[in-house]
Order: sequence, then structure tokens, then C-alpha cells
Amino acid sequence: MAGETILLIEDEKNIVELIKYNLEKEGFRVLTAMKGNAGLDMALKEKPALVVLDLMLPELGGLEICKTLKHNDKTRNVPVIMLTAKGTETDKIVGLELGADDYMTKPFSPRELIARIKAIFRRVHEKPKLELLKAGALELDITKHELRLKGNSAELTAKEFELLKTLMEASGRALSREFLLERVWGYENSMNIETRTVDMHIGQLRKKIGKEADRIVTVKSVGYRFDGD
Ligand code: CA
Repeated sequence: MAGETILLIEDEKNIVELIKYNLEKEGFRVLTAMKGNAGLDMALKEKPALVVLDLMLPELGGLEICKTLKHNDKTRNVPVIMLTAKGTETDKIVGLELGADDYMTKPFSPRELIARIKAIFRRVHEKPKLELLKAGALELDITKHELRLKGNSAELTAKEFELLKTLMEASGRALSREFLLERVWGYENSMNIETRTVDMHIGQLRKKIGKEADRIVTVKSVGYRFDGD
């Protein structure tokens, strides 16, 4: 863990200095960027082991950066910890639906940030790649691209498979319709697309998974959540 490179994208100089100092003391290598564009470039170029990302940044905001990183194959698996100001900003990332792995509300102590970073690294290093997602009688076999119900193979369309996979991977977290559209259908600007598309596919999916259908929970005015075991 020590020696890994952490990229800090933050525009408040005193916070940059405080975090950098404390992370270096822990043995991490720290790269810093104080503007959004520069930070994103650095993340793509340097491929850090983890990114600490402020939400409000000049030029390019943290949400945009997070989204870009999580949509890029090269950086998709780089953990991101978002830093948010108190209150409203936190609400925006409820569900961490942009793919951030954790977030902290300012002000926070460097000690707590370090604890979170270490926890993420532990998860990353320990977690075997999930090739099989399970819940109750449901088994989603990523390798074979197959859904099994009580061991019996069940037919899913490609979109239904992606939708179920996305929900199961985020098990316990509410995902918005917009997020699902973007992730499953790949719409860049999901605002103009009918979010009912998602509802229709969820309906089909529920039918196909029979008794496990209740695991796909409708979250009022947000979207959907998958409840695991
Ligand atoms: Ca800021």
C-alpha cells in the first residue's frame, strides 16, 4: 500500500498542503492538481492507484471528472474519494451513483481520510474479481453471460443482462434512471432520452426473475435499487 501513487485534485491550497503532507508521511507518493482539466489529464496519464477529488473545481468540476474516469476503460477501476462541502453537494452524490468509491464532507481530518484510503486499498487488494453475482436463487454468471435461477438457465436480452449486472454490482445502492440509461444504453446526454425505457426494461426483468423480482426495488423519484442477501 505504501508507495502507491495518489492523485489529489483540489483547488484549496491549504487543504492540498495538509493532505499531501499527511499522505507522504504515510509513505504514499502524491501528485497534485489544482484545476479540473489538469487533474483529469494527470489521472489519465499517470494512472494513479487512487484519486482524491474535490467536487467544486475551476475549469472542470469533480462530478464531470469522476464520470469521465469511470467511463474510461483505463481508469474505470481507479478508486475515487470525493471531497464535498457541507450540505447540498453531499445530496447530489447520494448513492455515489457516479461511481465514486467513497466521499468525505469538509472539514475532515487527514487521519480519517487516510483511514478511508487504506480501507479502499484493502478492499481493492483483497476482493477477487466478481465473475459470479449471487442473490437468493439468482446467479448472474458474468463469464458465461448467463442468468441462472435455482441453477436453471434463464433467457435475458443483452440490455436486461447489463441492467441486472449494473444493479447487482451496486447492490444496496439506489441508482437513478439517468445513470442506468448512461451505463446500460450508453447515452451521453440522457436528459433527452425517455427514462421510461428503463422502467420498461425493469418490468421485463422482474418478470423474468420471478420470485426474486422483489429484490429490484423502485426508489421513489430516483430510480431503482437491488437488494442483495
Ligand atoms: Ca473546491
